[in-house]
Amino acid sequence: MKNDQVAKIAKRLTALRDEILKIIDLRDTAGGGNGAMDEIDQANELIEKEMGFVMSNNMRANLKEVEEALDRIAKGHYGKCLHCSQEISPKRLEVLPFARLCVPCQEKIESKNR
Ligand SMILES: [Zn+2]
Repeated sequence: MKNDQVAKIAKRLTALRDEILKIIDLRDTAGGGNGAMDEIDQANELIEKEMGFVMSNNMRANLKEVEEALDRIAKGHYGKCLHCSQEISPKRLEVLPFARLCVPCQEKIESKNR
């Protein structure tokens, strides 16, 4: 994967991390008020639109994945499958910037869990 592609993804991941932090913060301070919920919904929508996938309700788990991806970028081994060390296809990373596994490994694991 080229450096400029990684830089682009790093930017997206950083923005995503900020959005997730915002949502967590809003949830923590919402305290039953309904104004904050609207903001959370809006932020959720933004993430879905920008990142092209639906966030799960578990924001803290998502945050961890994003931070781990940023960590891999910082250490210079972003874009490699953690299982087989093969390069993950840039197309996959575009859809799922914090993907840890290449498609074949992911499919193997998913078929095992089924
Ligand atoms: Zn793999």
